[in-house]
Amino acid sequence: MRLAFLGLGIMGQAMATNLVKAGNEVSVWNRTPGKTVEGAREAGSPADAAQGADVIWMCVADTDAVEQVLFGADGVESVLTPGMVVVDSSTISPNATKAFADRVRSKGAEYLDAPITGSKIGAQNAQLIFMVGGDPAVIERVRPLFEAMGKTVLHMGDNGKGQAAKIGMNLMIALIYEGFAEALTLTTKLGVEPEAFLKLIQSSMVRSGVVDYKAPFVLKRDFSPNFPLRLMHKDIHLMLDAAHEVRVKLPALETVDEIYEVASEEGYSDMDYAATLALLEKWAGVEVKSAAG
Ligand code: NAP
Repeated sequence: MRLAFLGLGIMGQAMATNLVKAGNEVSVWNRTPGKTVEGAREAGSPADAAQGADVIWMCVADTDAVEQVLFGADGVESVLTPGMVVVDSSTISPNATKAFADRVRSKGAEYLDAPITGSKIGAQNAQLIFMVGGDPAVIERVRPLFEAMGKTVLHMGDNGKGQAAKIGMNLMIALIYEGFAEALTLTTKLGVEPEAFLKLIQSSMVRSGVVDYKAPFVLKRDFSPNFPLRLMHKDIHLMLDAAHEVRVKLPALETVDEIYEVASEEGYSDMDYAATLALLEKWAGVEVKSAAG
């Protein structure tokens, strides 16, 4: 297939690489020039990349970025033709997604919101999970592309529902990780070895995929970004905004938002979101360290 891939960040770079490997003809574009993908054509604008493509795939930072890429100067909209499919794997506002989808469909093109989970490693190994909002028939048309980048495609409902499911999922990730970080800080201060505590968690019902994934990084004190704190903070705002729109209270998330506010002020934005642990440690006057290291 002839594809455009827009946004070559941590996730997009790996996703576009897998689309090239699967034998597609890919044009790539990134806002800041210089990021490339081997075997892909480097385009000068979103419109240049999208011109004549069967499918236009986006993975950019946030709602404003998607709006810019689609409808800004030299945006995708100017070259949309009937039959094209636009897919958005960024995590953005469910409500804005509905409006973007309507505007794209008014040109005769199709729209899927297809946010992702699986982190950097899942993107690199083509093991992403896609949660998709949109027409199931359109999902089938682009299924080979989902399969080139991921292992699972789950239909969540019509446009916007993929994004709604994604922010619900990230709400759980943010709270589960914060629970882990608080428990580690407290038990370390009380003198329990982090490895012993971890062994307990992993052999009990408290075990979680989030802890399984994050614990090795935490014990090595490796806070380099797999999922940058600034992006999880962006997602927390998407959750709180959506909750406000539909009159839902999220008191635990509001507290976690305050922790992220302070972490951002302290300069942790470009670190992994696991770095909120460092803030708790600072407040507690303790450091969670592996006995081995
Ligand atoms: P990233 O490394 O920060 O990359 C962000 C990308 O968005 C870059 O290509 C950036 O371009 C582009 N961008 C930012 N603002 C833009 C604008 N106004 N116009 C056009 N392009 C713009 O982020 P990432 O980790 O790849 O994440 C991308 C999306 O996937 C986000 O919505 C994130 O929440 C979601 N996500 C990430 C993960 C993860 O583990 N990392 C997992 C699931 C979902 P420049 O190079 O010019 O800055």
